[in-house]
Amino acid sequence: MTQVRRRSLEIPVDEDGMLGRGCPRCRSQFKIDLERYEERGFMNIRCPDCRFISELDNFTTGEQRDYLYSVSRNFALSTMEDLIEDVFNGSSSSSSGEVEIEVNAGDVDFGRVETEPPTISIELEEEVCDECGFSFQVEIESNGVCPVCR
Ligand SMILES: [Zn+2]
Ligand SMILES: [Zn+2]
Repeated sequence: MTQVRRRSLEIPVDEDGMLGRGCPRCRSQFKIDLERYEERGFMNIRCPDCRFISELDNFTTGEQRDYLYSVSRNFALSTMEDLIEDVFNGSSSSSSGEVEIEVNAGDVDFGRVETEPPTISIELEEEVCDECGFSFQVEIESNGVCPVCR
């Protein structure tokens, strides 16, 4: 019996639904309204500071990549643990019982580490675009441009 489990990897948004982003070019950090972004089907965002335009994923910060890596690693490990438990509990093997293995899967340590979602540590201020009403957050006094207007 093979079960395929899927889990989409997502960086959690903050309590206001804002997704933290970091520019790969100028390293500035900002936040965008993810729900609004997805709702409108935008393909790219623009860095509010240096105006570099690229896909949303290219603005994932190093900390966020680390987080996604550890989440996917934990997910893979827990899937493995479940599989091993299934095997040792006999739920997925034949009942001939010729071989007995005494292993408690719960004792197997895969080195799983829980990771906190990364947060942007610098102070940001809320902006709402005059043109399109899109809300975003940029560094204070950076006069950032709207990440979605063209
Ligand atoms: Zn930039
Ligand atoms: Zn705009």
